[in-house]
Amino acid sequence: MKKNGIGKNRAFKLCVLIAFSVLASFTSYSQYRVSPILRYSVSMTEPGSHLLHVALDVSELNMDTVELRMPRWMPGYYQIMEYSKEVSNFSAAGSNGNAIPVICTNNNAWLIIPGKNTSFSISYDVCADKKFVANNFLDSTHAYIVPAATFLYLNEHTDIPVTVEVIPFSSWNDIATGLEVSDENGNEFHAPDFDILYDCPILTGNLDELPSFTVGGIKHRFLAYNPGNFDREGFIASLEKTVKAATEIMGDIPYNEYTFIGIGPGAGGIEHLNNTTVSFSGGRLDNPDALQGMLKFLAHEYFHHYNVKRIRPYELGPFDYSREARTNLLWVSEGLTVYYEYLIVRRAGLMSDEELIASLESDINTLENDPGRMHQSLTQASFQPWSDGPFGNRSPGPDRSISYYVKGPVVGLILDLKIRNATANKKSLDDVMRLLYATYYRKLQRGFTDAEFQQACEEIAGTSLSNEFEYVYTTREIDYSTYLSYAGLNISDEVDKSTGKSLFTITVKDDIESLQSSIFQSWSGN
Ligand SMILES: [Zn+2]
Repeated sequence: MKKNGIGKNRAFKLCVLIAFSVLASFTSYSQYRVSPILRYSVSMTEPGSHLLHVALDVSELNMDTVELRMPRWMPGYYQIMEYSKEVSNFSAAGSNGNAIPVICTNNNAWLIIPGKNTSFSISYDVCADKKFVANNFLDSTHAYIVPAATFLYLNEHTDIPVTVEVIPFSSWNDIATGLEVSDENGNEFHAPDFDILYDCPILTGNLDELPSFTVGGIKHRFLAYNPGNFDREGFIASLEKTVKAATEIMGDIPYNEYTFIGIGPGAGGIEHLNNTTVSFSGGRLDNPDALQGMLKFLAHEYFHHYNVKRIRPYELGPFDYSREARTNLLWVSEGLTVYYEYLIVRRAGLMSDEELIASLESDINTLENDPGRMHQSLTQASFQPWSDGPFGNRSPGPDRSISYYVKGPVVGLILDLKIRNATANKKSLDDVMRLLYATYYRKLQRGFTDAEFQQACEEIAGTSLSNEFEYVYTTREIDYSTYLSYAGLNISDEVDKSTGKSLFTITVKDDIESLQSSIFQSWSGN
């Protein structure tokens, strides 16, 4: 069979270190830690049933009881998903084939009592009928497998290596995943621990491969299910410029190969260390607005491999998959990634200055017409997606929440322009991102706290940013005109008579000073 396993990517230093941290935090287990060998297989012999069949062989076991758990959520999608609800037909058998006891201890855990067996097998089915980037999906044409929704982990032992054999439906030829290929046929994969396994979704079917490209000597691929008809060469040329502009901000490419995995038409994408899984359809990409929207979306998911996968809040790793990973800093991880998606596409030459300004103007108008901005700060919004959802609480009643996807980029703009003005345009938010990457990812190999993020911004700015961080911690009204004037921009506010809504308009000032001009030029990448 022809396989398209991404494989060979060992750029997982962060997560390997995460695994060491997990191990260190469970020293009480180390005295009888035995490293059982775990081999998973996932098959799909009747794709029309929407059922994935999963088998796990455990050997070299030296434990009286084994608690297997299904994650309750997946990193990158900050909602409790309760993936265990999709599991059925759970059974366990010893090496002699006899059934062994299983106790379902709660909704997401199964206690196996292997007795004298040093090896045993379990098997179960997983319903895969939800077409969404954070859910499993299987039909007669393809399968999208979310490992966190499919493979159980040994409680308190997410540091154990694991092998996964993917057995596609008989007429399917391709597998795309960020996992390392570990056999000649290309359908067996190795993960050094469950953090890596859960970071690598699997797409199988008869996939299309778009032209690959190289940035900084490193290969970038695009594999997709049903991408449609469009100018693939032209699209990839634009994507290459986008990736290049993103890597130039950070000055380092921390993986050996990267793959965009298009899972078919739909909405949403999720970031990973060496790949992203994205809803993708090329059918409308001959429309310039649709193409630019797609490039912003892909720039966003791509930039996340820096901002959130490697530059990350303290709470976002190592993960406890049994409970929420709440942080005040999703406005940095998500909001600043939105800000950078605009800058990346502009600096790649795929967006005009006017379109860059219009993107931020749109966020300002959305924020200023959201009554929730008077009730919820960015830090509060960052803490709440587990209950409110990523775009704020949308249930009926007074709107008391905001989206960090909207206020995040606005505050990113404020911080960036403040830093540029305070340093005579010698420093910018780009320097903050590079400082965080060098300090917390490369050197300390951990996430940063709220205070450490502000300290990094202030170190680059060379001055206190306590006024600007009030826009993060409080609901204080934003003084747009002061900050926009640093880049020679003007902002006006009027009421739209037809809708009654505030209408903010940003324009370029006619007569600007040289510092304002240089800030605008370097900010937009001219
Ligand atoms: Zn995002």
